[in-house]
Amino acid sequence: MTYLMATLNSNYLKLKAGYLFPEIARRVKAFTEANPQAASRMIRCGIGDVTEPLPSAVREAMHAAIDEMGTHVGFHGYGPEQGYEFLRTAIAQHDYLDRGIEVADDEIFISDGSKCDGGNILDILGADNRIAVMDPVYPVYVDTNVMAGHTGEAREDGSYAGILYLECNAANGFVPQIPEEKADIIYLCFPNNPTGSVASRAQLEVWVAYARKNGSLLLYDAAYEAYISDPSVPHSIYEIAGARECAIEFRSFSKNGGFTGTRCAFTVVPKGLTALCSSGEARPLHPLWHRRFTTKFNGVSYVTQRGAAALYSDKGQAEVRDLVSHYMGNAAILREAVASCGLKVYGGVNAPYIWVHGPAGLTSWQIFDRMLNEANIVVTPGSGFGRAGEGYFRISAFNSREKVLEAAARIKAMVW
Ligand code: PLP
Repeated sequence: MTYLMATLNSNYLKLKAGYLFPEIARRVKAFTEANPQAASRMIRCGIGDVTEPLPSAVREAMHAAIDEMGTHVGFHGYGPEQGYEFLRTAIAQHDYLDRGIEVADDEIFISDGSKCDGGNILDILGADNRIAVMDPVYPVYVDTNVMAGHTGEAREDGSYAGILYLECNAANGFVPQIPEEKADIIYLCFPNNPTGSVASRAQLEVWVAYARKNGSLLLYDAAYEAYISDPSVPHSIYEIAGARECAIEFRSFSKNGGFTGTRCAFTVVPKGLTALCSSGEARPLHPLWHRRFTTKFNGVSYVTQRGAAALYSDKGQAEVRDLVSHYMGNAAILREAVASCGLKVYGGVNAPYIWVHGPAGLTSWQIFDRMLNEANIVVTPGSGFGRAGEGYFRISAFNSREKVLEAAARIKAMVW
């Protein structure tokens, strides 16, 4: 056996073993091996992956782009790393300017996913920032900071030393209160995964004021923006005055256009947004992110970007509305089923996730096991998203109507 003298990134060794979804998969596998007759009955309401086919506007645009690629004039090799102008313009127009929000085309960077963007953004930020996350939280924000060496070791309860956890609970409507301590970087996600909560304009104003007062950067994840039905709820952090000087926004086509497998997303980095360099001087982040893109990325494929741009056509917009209303119809059915069992239900109104408090005294994993055993339904244990998720479970509305109706009937039949 040869042992290399090269070193590895020891931060990876701090990561907790048994990440949430592998542990769910392990339990489901163990259950179906012990109960093979239950395997075909299993309804997966766990992972937040979409289920409905890619919109026809997208497929047509992608087919046409493939045909273009088969000609000399229409062939596209390496494109602009930060995205084609046709897509950046469409995004700026439809997602921002049409809503009266100031965002320029060249502040938009097209990528292959918000998950990657969320991790990659750390490349351009310093290592000594105090990081704050919502608890419960989309695990990627935490794990990418662990990998980058921004945390201490994992504690017994699964949290990491050095991270400021902002508790979200029923009392605060799953929107975190401003902390007494100062955080340099705060991850906010609305509509929220996993709780399905949204932040009101007033609540976002408080966060923007906090960020401006403390010189903090908000990393605003709006992956589920398309699911907002309440007209008073902001779709973008830039709807809040002053946010352009303190926030980066992440958006994705995964959940509005069904792009989880096709892969396309974008980040908005306003040109006026600055952070401190080691000399204490304020420098813009936009050129750094641009530099990162051009150095470490060669752009999303032309065909995919054509597909994404088609989501902004009239036909594409109508298809997005249909997809959203399909999933939100599922959410309504699931909410009603869970509520009829006497359980406390949150979310599922402006977000495709339903956040449920289980019967008193049961842990999230106990509820998970009960639902798996008794109803053959896979949910996501709330504690997997953080300490404050203990006692809760998440049901995803991403499913076929048939499966949702069946899941709702089985939930109602359970003795809670
Ligand atoms: N942000 C949140 C809050 C998510 O829940 C997800 C996916 O589930 C993502 C980002 C990832 O999006 P993408 O598919 O663009 O990587």
